[in-house]
Amino acid sequence: MKRVVIKVGSHVLTQNGAIAKTRMLALVELISDLKTNQYEVILVSSGAVSAGYTQLPLDRSVVANKQALAAIGQPYLLKMYQEKFSTFGLLCSQVLLSADVFDSRKQTDHAKNAIDTLLANNVVPIINENDTVSIEELVFGDNDRLSAHVAHYFDAELLVILSDIDAFYDKDPNKYDDAKRRAIVSVLHEEELNADHTPNNEFATGGIVTKLQAADFLMKQHRAMFLASGFDLRDVKSFLLKAEHLGGTLFQA
Ligand code: ADP
Repeated sequence: MKRVVIKVGSHVLTQNGAIAKTRMLALVELISDLKTNQYEVILVSSGAVSAGYTQLPLDRSVVANKQALAAIGQPYLLKMYQEKFSTFGLLCSQVLLSADVFDSRKQTDHAKNAIDTLLANNVVPIINENDTVSIEELVFGDNDRLSAHVAHYFDAELLVILSDIDAFYDKDPNKYDDAKRRAIVSVLHEEELNADHTPNNEFATGGIVTKLQAADFLMKQHRAMFLASGFDLRDVKSFLLKAEHLGGTLFQA
């Protein structure tokens, strides 16, 4: 079995302020395909704040409102996942972690035992930050950092980040027409890791920099990360299911 973590950003999961159900279904179908092809899959999903906003439109620029929206939206998000996973005969589960879980060896072990047990029973763990007690990812990172920690501490060989961008480019492709995709990256430099943060919309808090930091962390742990489009899953499918690297960026030391 190959263990992978898939992280999906809020921009991919939401459209016009609501959960993008078709994209969520495509993601669930991908996970189902992976599971029948010898993969163990852990999902790290954003989207709780957006799901909450569809129920109660609080001002998202206030952090406490975002926490409240996440608390409202998380059960809605999970309900939607449950419905979709059940159409593929799969159970899913909710695992809320605060960022400091990984600061404690004991808490990390407890969490890993639970994750291992879920996976051994063919259940898909859906991880999110516990935003009522820990706001690091809510304010900054959109789960990019959390997913890198999940991949390392829960012993996955690969983190797949499904983003609104289909790869890492030599410059921002939304600003420069001549930006070129970097297919494989084996080292990241300080200036790339400390560049200005460029979140793309009001729900996105990470931008490319937090993804590069996630990749850097994993490469230093001898693990890999694959960045690909969450809007069109063809690249991630061919990479994981056919071992063909057509699009996307593989970060591997
Ligand atoms: P998500 O919400 O999917 O996690 P973000 O929108 O936070 O993703 O971050 C991806 C965005 O980062 C892209 O849409 C792009 O505009 C921006 N970006 C800046 N520089 C680059 C680069 N060199 N390569 C790819 N994307 C970049």
